[in-house]
Amino acid sequence: MSTPAEDFIALDESWSTHNYHPLPVVIAEANGPWVTDVDGNRYLDFLSGYSALNFGHRHPAVVTAAVEQLGRVTLTSRAFHHDQFGLFCKELAELTGTDMVLTMNSGAEAVESAIKVARKWAYQVKGVPAETAEVVVATSNFHGRTTTIVSFSDDETARADFGPFTPGFVQVPYGDADALRDAVNDRTAALLLEPIQGEAGVITPPPGYFAEARRIADDAGALLIADEIQSGLARTGTLLALDHEGVRADLYTLGKALGGGILPLSAVVGRGDVLGVLRPGEHGSTFGGNPLACAVGRAVIALLRTGEFQERSATLGLHLHQRLGALVGNGVTEVRGRGLWAGVDIAAGGLSGRDASETLAKQGVLCKETHGSTLRIAPPLVIERDELDRGIDAIAAVVRR
Ligand SMILES: *Cc1c(COP(=O)(O)O)cnc(C)c1O
Repeated sequence: MSTPAEDFIALDESWSTHNYHPLPVVIAEANGPWVTDVDGNRYLDFLSGYSALNFGHRHPAVVTAAVEQLGRVTLTSRAFHHDQFGLFCKELAELTGTDMVLTMNSGAEAVESAIKVARKWAYQVKGVPAETAEVVVATSNFHGRTTTIVSFSDDETARADFGPFTPGFVQVPYGDADALRDAVNDRTAALLLEPIQGEAGVITPPPGYFAEARRIADDAGALLIADEIQSGLARTGTLLALDHEGVRADLYTLGKALGGGILPLSAVVGRGDVLGVLRPGEHGSTFGGNPLACAVGRAVIALLRTGEFQERSATLGLHLHQRLGALVGNGVTEVRGRGLWAGVDIAAGGLSGRDASETLAKQGVLCKETHGSTLRIAPPLVIERDELDRGIDAIAAVVRR
């Protein structure tokens, strides 16, 4: 006799490509920070869809906006105007303190769009000779899965057998400002950096790195592009993770939580004189900025405008990091991150990240390993303190040796 969960897993394995290795949990329902599997077991979600679920599962304000929009109009294409589009763009620009918004769907599309815009800006405004523009990126970056984006990744698993790759990228060690300065020249269109590297294991840069990156970009007449797809929208205790550094980027890529945990919605936001280089026909997306996505995005913006989620992440994040910090020396070698976001390195001799994640799942806490021995923790920002403590207790017990 197999359980319902085993039957569903067998179905996935028979009919889906094998490009993921999910934990053996089959989710049927979710609410706030909690999910329930097909066998009726409940789990605390400590991953939040890689920060796509910052407001938890099915946040009532976001669901209400989606349901109302489903009753009006869902898709128009950009061949026509619709009554949610301009409002979404205005509200997102005002929230982020930027001039202009380019709407897309997935995070990878936002990054691709930022690269295209930076290249066009470099040729038309900076005067870089045709076909020679460079974008400087960091080691251990993660910006998505398209062929151009994996072209400048150093994750061999993400690249192997997917070449030939897109030229025009220069990679330097993350967190090393001197290397950034050495890498820029009069062909540099942009520096493309994550304020905190999520997939790499929640790696935070040394203090002052982004202030220096800003100076380097300015000195080189290049753009600073911050990929805030995972770090942004309250995850670290501020609207944007770069806000902690007191630095403004020229372009920001946003995604994941922008779609409110309901649908894919991404955007590039930033300087009007940079995004303004795009003319009709040069770039686009059938689904980008559709009415349903814009209505959901507007509900997300309204939540972020209150500051409540930034505040929750900051306050609960201090508590999280205090408690995880106490595990260093007790089965943990290092804890990194900011706000309700942490990378926890399990000491050698302890469980592998995968085994720790599977053990935690059996105890009702869902998180996911990255790079072998690091647990990545990102609870929804709606989590209550006692729920957070319950998850941390389980983690402490699993890593303790
Ligand atoms: C997830 C992520 C992306 C890609 O987003 P998708 O929606 O999966 O395409 C890009 N950059 C960063 C920093 C991310 O975390």
